Amino acid sequence: MGSEYLDVIVVGAGFGGIGAAIQLKRLGYDDIAILDREADLGGTWHVNRYPGLAVDVPSTTYSYWFEPNPYWSRLFATGPELKQYANHVADKYDVRRHMRFNTIVQSAHWDEDAQLWRVALAGGETLTTRFLITATGFLSQPHTPDIPGVTTFDGKVVHTTAWDDTHDFTGRRVALIGTGATAVQLIPELAKTVADLTVYQRTAIWVAPKPDFGIAPAIQRLFARVPLTQRAVRWVTDGLLEFMTFTGVLNYRYFRRLSIAAMDLCKIHRFVSVRDAELRRKLTPSYDIGCKRPSWSNDYYRSFTKPHVHLETSGINRIEPDGIVTDDGHKTVIDTLVLATGFDLWDANFPAIEVVGREGRNLGKWWRENRFQAYQGVSMPYFPNYLSLASPYAFSGLSFFNTMEYQMRHMDRLLGEVKRRGATIFEVTEEANARFLERMTKNLDSSVFYAGDCATSRSYYFNHSGEATLLRPTSVRNAVRDGSRFPLSDYAIA
Ligand SMILES: Cc1cc2nc3c(=O)[nH]c(=O)nc-3n(C[C@H](O)[C@H](O)[C@H](O)COP(=O)(O)OP(=O)(O)OC[C@H]3O[C@@H](n4cnc5c(N)ncnc54)[C@H](O)[C@@H]3O)c2cc1C
Repeated sequence: MGSEYLDVIVVGAGFGGIGAAIQLKRLGYDDIAILDREADLGGTWHVNRYPGLAVDVPSTTYSYWFEPNPYWSRLFATGPELKQYANHVADKYDVRRHMRFNTIVQSAHWDEDAQLWRVALAGGETLTTRFLITATGFLSQPHTPDIPGVTTFDGKVVHTTAWDDTHDFTGRRVALIGTGATAVQLIPELAKTVADLTVYQRTAIWVAPKPDFGIAPAIQRLFARVPLTQRAVRWVTDGLLEFMTFTGVLNYRYFRRLSIAAMDLCKIHRFVSVRDAELRRKLTPSYDIGCKRPSWSNDYYRSFTKPHVHLETSGINRIEPDGIVTDDGHKTVIDTLVLATGFDLWDANFPAIEVVGREGRNLGKWWRENRFQAYQGVSMPYFPNYLSLASPYAFSGLSFFNTMEYQMRHMDRLLGEVKRRGATIFEVTEEANARFLERMTKNLDSSVFYAGDCATSRSYYFNHSGEATLLRPTSVRNAVRDGSRFPLSDYAIA
């Protein structure tokens, strides 16, 4: 039986896959399939439904630059609003009809003879396509910690990526493992309903006061009627985030004083929220701000001052059927275990599916044996007609939509040229890839990752070899400019 042939397969129906599909349609492609293992679109904002979920950058910036949403109800929109925005964009740009849900992609192999990709699905079906784009996200493969006894626990276990809306937390004795960005949002909400909450912290997180507020309907109407007003606000929020990235993350070496000021702000926030000096000490990170994604919250620190909320910083020794025992022998009896343990980036991801290119080059193996790398965060030599949007050095700035913007511009320039030449194959040259990797490596020298103190941060920005290969160490401006202007000679197009 012959397998179905498509012009383009996009893996992932989150904001990355939606953006890629919009760009493809602008270029005139219609024979597209967007495959996602979930039952609906939205990626992060479909999968995560825990109480308190919200975006961590102003919504004016966390949106496609060509599709502002005048109706955000708050500066930092909630999860359900983001999911609604994803629905709106998918419908407006007519990409929903290309989506196939409940479809797990296992692997993609480049067929050198037929010059196409063979994409294998769980269940045995194989699709073929000329172009392959993976938009499988960075934070999409949940991490479940391998704690002794975790499978023997008798009570309810909930991972934050699989929130069980039917489980009533009222009056429960709950343990929550993890103090990353998700926990910062969830803990204050859980503290409102549960009888007892013990939070198990391995690494403290930097938390700044959150400058969040509701956006009045009159302002929303103004944004809708006079789009320039919203664009002006976006210009400000874009600029602030770019300033924070440029000084605090990428050029830490030269702007250390500003990072110290940011840490002082968090310190004051902690001091004002928590009177107990010992508790404050436990909540104080021992690494520089920026090594690990910091967060904002006005009630995270205060939650720990409630009599029924406890912070546990001894390591977890084991989980028993009715509770958790820490290394110092202390047992806390619980009936619900919440795993806010985040995502597996460097094992389960990069890439999220097996990808085998020309001459049998296996992308996952190649990355691990030759350093993580991707030209302009999207393409790799020996992988013709393939763009990987969740690549090393891909994430630019603090909002994912910065990444989306330069990647869509890159697709426009590259695939537009392929079309103009009537070509069928593109592949980045080894020379261009090496040049880009060298540039990224050099730029990282001044970043907080290499010039700051990140030793105890346990941050997902670092891979297993200790290289900070997740974020693109350039300004967003530079990434967007490169997306529109990279030399076409960096690709072999035939
Ligand atoms: C709780 C949380 C809060 C966040 N807050 C922010 C924020 O404030 N600012 C910010 O910039 N970013 C934030 N992020 C990052 C967020 O993931 C990105 O902003 C953005 O949503 C990523 O979109 P994406 O399409 O690249 O990936 P995702 O949204 O992760 O979508 C990837 C899709 O690929 C699918 N997929 C993966 N593997 C397969 C497979 N093998 N077969 C089929 N389908 C597959 C998944 O099901 C998923 O739908 C947050 C992430 C999380 C988890």
